[in-house]
Amino acid sequence: MQTIPIKPVGQAPLVDAFQRRYYYLRLSITDVCNFRCNYCLPNGYQPEANKPSFLTLNEIRLVVNSFAAMGTEKVRITGGEPTLRKDFLSIVETIAQQPAIKHIALTTNGYRMAKDVADWKAAGITSINVSIDSLDPRLFHRITGVDKFDDVMRGLERAFEIGYQKVKVNSVLMKALNETDFDQFLAWIKDKPIQMRFIELMQTGEMDHFFHKHHLSGQILADRLLKTGWILQEKGVLDGPANVFRHPDYVGEVGLIMPYEKNFCASCNRLRVSAKGKLHLCLFGEEGIELRDLLQSDDQQWQLQARISSALQGKREHHFLHQGDSGVRTNLASIGG
Ligand code: SAM
Ligand code: SF4
Repeated sequence: MQTIPIKPVGQAPLVDAFQRRYYYLRLSITDVCNFRCNYCLPNGYQPEANKPSFLTLNEIRLVVNSFAAMGTEKVRITGGEPTLRKDFLSIVETIAQQPAIKHIALTTNGYRMAKDVADWKAAGITSINVSIDSLDPRLFHRITGVDKFDDVMRGLERAFEIGYQKVKVNSVLMKALNETDFDQFLAWIKDKPIQMRFIELMQTGEMDHFFHKHHLSGQILADRLLKTGWILQEKGVLDGPANVFRHPDYVGEVGLIMPYEKNFCASCNRLRVSAKGKLHLCLFGEEGIELRDLLQSDDQQWQLQARISSALQGKREHHFLHQGDSGVRTNLASIGG
C-alpha cells in the first residue's frame, strides 16, 4: 500500500479555509511616528504606559524565519514610521539574510529618505512606498502636521538617483482636502516611473465625523481613470492590494486601493505582525494572536509555525468595514496600514 507523506501542521504553505495563499508578510516594527497625519495620528504618537516594548532584532529574525519556512517571499516593513528605529538597517540586513525572502519593501513617510536611501538599498530594501498626500507644500503640512514636503520630495529624487527604477507613492485622497490633487498627481507621473497609489480613507475607531466628512469613494476615481483611457491590469500573486491602471501616454501607473470594494478581500495574500508581536489576520476586526512567547529561541520554530497555521484557519472571508465595523483598530499606525 502506498503511504502518503503527511506534513506536520506548520510546515505546509500558508493557505486559509477559503483557499487563499499567503506569500506576503506586513511587519510593523514600531508604533512610533514623528508625523501627525490627520487621518492616522492627529495628536501625534502617544506613548502608552506599561506598554510592551517593540519586537527585538532577534524576535524579528525568528518571526521572519517561520513565515519564510511557510512560503512567504515578500516582507513589507512598516509602522508607525519604521525608519525611526535606531536598528533599522540591522533589521533590514537580518531579513535580507533569509534566502527565501526575495522582496523587502518599505513603507515610509520619507522624512529621512534623502539622507539615508542609499543605506537602505545597500541593506536590502528592494522597493519603497513613500506617502505624499499633496503636491502643494501647504496642504501637505496641513494633512501631515509637519513642514517636510521639500525633504520628502528630495528623498524621492535621491531614490531614483541611487538606482531605484520605480517608486510607489501613497496618497489618501480626501473630500474637501486634497481631492483636487488627483489631476496634479496624474500630470506629475506622466513622465516619471512612479506608481501613484490612491488609498481610500478607512474608518478607524478614532474617527467618525472625520470619516464622514472626508471619505471619497475609490470607485469615483476608477470611473474617472477608465473614462480617460487608463486600462486596468491583471494582478500577480505577490502584488499588494492595489488595482493597477496603465495608460499608453504615461510612464507612471496608478494603483487604487479600495477596501470598501465588494471583492477587495478575495485576493488577500497578506498577513500582519504588529510591532508588539501579535499576528493579525486582517487589518480590521480582531485583537491579534500573541506570538511573542514563541519568539524566544530557535527551538520554538515548529510551535510558532503551528500556531500561525492554525490561527489562519480562523481568518474570515472578508472584513466588515462596509457595515461600519472597524473592529478594535484605533488607528493604522498601530498595525502599519
Ligand atoms: N508611516 C509610514 C507612512 O506613512 O507611509 C508607514 C505607516 S502608515 C500607517 C502606512 C500607510 O497607511 C500610509 O500610506 C498612510 O497614508 C496609510 N493610512 C494610515 N491611516 C489610514 C486611514 N485611516 N485610511 C487609509 N489609509 C491610511
Ligand atoms: Fe505616521 Fe504614517 Fe500614520 Fe502619517 S500615516 S501619522 S506618517 S504612521
